Amino acid sequence: MKYAHDITELVGNTPLVKLNRVTEGLTPATVLVKLEYLNPGGSSKDRIAARIIDAAEREGKLKPGGTIVEPTSGNTGVGLALVAQQRGYHCIFVCPDKVSEDKRNVLKAYGAEVVVTPTAVAPDSPESYYGVSDRLAREIPGAFKPDQYSNPNGPRSHYETTGPEIWRDTDGKITHFVAGVGTGGTITGTGRYLREVSGDRVRIIGADPEGSVYSGGTGRPYFVEGVGEDFWPTAYDPAVPHEIIAVSDAESFAMTRRLAREEGILVGGSSGMAVVAALKAASRPDVTSDDVFVVLLPDSGRGYLGKIFNDKWLRAYGFGNAPTGHTVRNLLD
Ligand code: PMP
Repeated sequence: MKYAHDITELVGNTPLVKLNRVTEGLTPATVLVKLEYLNPGGSSKDRIAARIIDAAEREGKLKPGGTIVEPTSGNTGVGLALVAQQRGYHCIFVCPDKVSEDKRNVLKAYGAEVVVTPTAVAPDSPESYYGVSDRLAREIPGAFKPDQYSNPNGPRSHYETTGPEIWRDTDGKITHFVAGVGTGGTITGTGRYLREVSGDRVRIIGADPEGSVYSGGTGRPYFVEGVGEDFWPTAYDPAVPHEIIAVSDAESFAMTRRLAREEGILVGGSSGMAVVAALKAASRPDVTSDDVFVVLLPDSGRGYLGKIFNDKWLRAYGFGNAPTGHTVRNLLD
């Protein structure tokens, strides 16, 4: 019989699929995307959750019956909740009140407790979500705070799984790797592995929302979620990427919609952003038909149905020119 012994065994080994329509006329290269939404918790963060919890157990930071406390409202929370539940840990996630009830309910569905903090306070206030999670981690006996922004097991999990999978599945033919940068764990771990295994032949390209620090911004607000920062996390090693390409919200959302409509790939805005960056690089004159781009798509579009896939929301925020209905327009042109 072929079955997994528990759900966490199904983390990783996500497939690659070729893009056909959105690449048309833009590049001679093969552009493959890695579908991280096929992880059991629906995102690439399942990978880091397993490794972070393994390491905490090994280092004695997490003991039987312990509690995981993290400020997160999204994918990292789901990954942690899923792995924690399987191993008998309690999870408390702290998130600001701007986070939608749907997102909080996903975390609760996996058995986590959710503490909501006010959005309208300074990040260094004791009431902020950082402040509250620090206090809970201090005061709850046996609490462990993973801190995905500084935990080295984040990038390590991508070094040990994502990188080798891509190398194996492309028979070592990959020439470019493209990923969005949030904590920086994905690009740092995967990029480092691919550079090492290829004798530094694979070019590593980070994708960043316009305004974020990685592409030289000040942290100015943008709408794409899960990527870009207003500070430099230690999970990110700036020596790994060869370049960072900045992408606007409008370009990211337009491509996210096209991936769903034209490729049948329903993913989040950071995935659209990474594909835009990949196509910008893949349409340069030195790219040939021997080139193989691999773009990592971190999560599913299901979490964004009320935003990116909602025409009213797009128009309300000034992204009305993103492709809707049958008027598909390539904003890269
Ligand atoms: N996209 C989404 C939707 C995410 O949740 C994240 C994680 N913050 C990323 C991209 C970026 O991944 P990383 O933190 O590894 O840089």
